[in-house]
This record gives sequence, C-alpha cells and structure tokens, in this order.
Amino acid sequence: GYGWEEEDAASLLPRAPVVTIMGHVDHGKTSLLDAVRESSVATGEAGGITQHIGAYQVTHAHRTITFIDTPGHAAFSEMRARGANVTDLVVLVVAADEGVKEQTIDSIRCAKQAHVPILLAVNKVDKPGADPSRVTQELMKYDVLLEEYGGDVLSAEVSAKKRLNLDGLLEKILLQAEILDLKANPNRSAVGAVVESRMEKGLGPVTTVLVQKGTLRVGDCIVAGAAYGKVRSLTDERGKRLETAGPSVPAVLSGWDGVPAAGDTLIVVESEMQARNVAEARRRLERERSGSATMG
Ligand code: GDP
Repeated sequence: GYGWEEEDAASLLPRAPVVTIMGHVDHGKTSLLDAVRESSVATGEAGGITQHIGAYQVTHAHRTITFIDTPGHAAFSEMRARGANVTDLVVLVVAADEGVKEQTIDSIRCAKQAHVPILLAVNKVDKPGADPSRVTQELMKYDVLLEEYGGDVLSAEVSAKKRLNLDGLLEKILLQAEILDLKANPNRSAVGAVVESRMEKGLGPVTTVLVQKGTLRVGDCIVAGAAYGKVRSLTDERGKRLETAGPSVPAVLSGWDGVPAAGDTLIVVESEMQARNVAEARRRLERERSGSATMG
C-alpha cells in the first residue's frame, strides 16, 4: 500500500504539534491566532510579508508549533468528515467575561468525539468583567477538568487584544505536545492533508497541504481526492521556496490538474501515470455515485 501500514518505532522522530483553535463566536479565536502569529513575526524569525495560507508555524523556545488558521469547529468537522485528522490538540477559547456558550459546548463535543485533548485559553482577561474562575467552574459540567482540580486539562489566561501571556499559552501547548509524544517518520513518501485550496493566476489550482508523515518533495507525483499532479513548487507562508516539507509542515503546493477539497488526503505515488489512474478511477466513482444519487 501507500503507507497506511504501521511505522517501525525506530523510524519515528519528534514532530511539531498541530493546533486548532475553537470556541464561541466573538470569544477571540481570530484575534488570538493573529496575535500569536504577529508576535512570531515581530521577533524577526523571518522577513517578508506573510499571507494567510490556512496554517502557519511559530517557534517558541526553539520549538515549533503549527496552527491551523481557520478557527472554529465547522472547519474542523468538515476536515474530519473527509477523513483528515490533522489536529493534535484543540485550544478552546472562552471569553472570561462571557463564560461557556453554545459553541463552546459544541467545540468540546467535537474535540471529545475526535479524541483530541483540549487546552483551555481563557481570553479577554483584560476586561473589567473578566471572571476566569467562573469559566473553569462552568467547564466542569462539560467534563473539562483543569489540572488544579485534579483533571488533565492545561490552561492559560490570556488577552489577545493586550497580548498578555501569549508566551504562557505557547508554553502550555508545548507541554501538552510533550505529553502526547508526537512523532512521525520523515523518511518515507509523504502523506498529508489538504487544508485549503484555491485557483491562482498563472499557477492554476494551488493548495495548502499539511504533511502528516514522510517528506514531500518538488517533483513528487501526487493524488488528493480526484485530483492529481506533480509538485511544481512548494512555498511557505512568506512565499519562500521550499525544496521539501516534512511532518507537521504546512506548504503551499502548485502542480495540480484539478482542485482537491479541504480535508482530502494527499499521497505520493510512483509515477504520473499511476497518479492519473488513481485520480481517474476516483472521478469515475464520483460520477457513478452522483449519477445514481440523481436517479434516486
Ligand atoms: P472570534 O469570532 O472568536 O474569531 O473572535 P474575534 O477574534 O473576531 O474577536 C471578537 C471581538 O473581541 C473583537 O472585537 C476583538 O477585538 C475582541 N477581543 C478579542 N480578544 C480580546 C481580548 O483579549 N480582550 C478584549 N478586550 N477584546 C478582545
């Protein structure tokens, strides 16, 4: 097969955690993603204008964290529905002045169903009405039990707006990642997930791919969903060209003949012919399925 088999433990190496931010609308998911991202840009990690590609990486204390930059459980569920389990941990954002709301509860349910650990970020602690301890009390009802109450959920009190304790949050994420002992084999053909895809002038279909195992290389023959191609270019969020992308690395990839969907699994095959054959077989199957669906 193409790598669904179990990996030999000796070939596994540590990889960066992949984090998705979830929580109720207006509790500060986007603000937090932006604040974390900007703080890494501000520390002068690399120059250049960054663009939103659907995922980004930050370095903290010499370690890397990958953030999926589409907040919310809709994206998370959609990806999962298509088979992509890319998230290693969910940062649950709860506004300290509002507490647990409907989408907070939905997010908890999503994370638990996916068996993905939750890390709590109590946001907006700068606000006069902030009451972080009320938040942690309320969360107990939903089986989200913080460390200080004997549970296993790590937490950080932050303000995305005032940029308070962002480092503390990153440290907790890295601590949780250590507990999870995340590993992948970089020395094999790549398997990844399509995070985002769009059409771009001059490049045709362009996707952001998150490599899950193996190493993706320029020139690799690829299939995702019913699309196939050959990797023409790989770039990071700053537009810098990459020759390769290893586990937990998001990369913008061009070279597709079609447009794969977010959540599709990307695999590398031996040849372009093989890639085309797999993609065409899937297209036939799709046509047959939609044909029989419309016929009732
Ligand atoms: P999202 O819907 O969860 O992505 O929430 P947003 O990031 O769009 O934030 C919703 C609103 O809350 C915006 O007006 C933000 O400026 C504000 N906001 C976000 N984080 C903070 C914070 O830490 N403190 C305060 N006071 N406001 C915040």
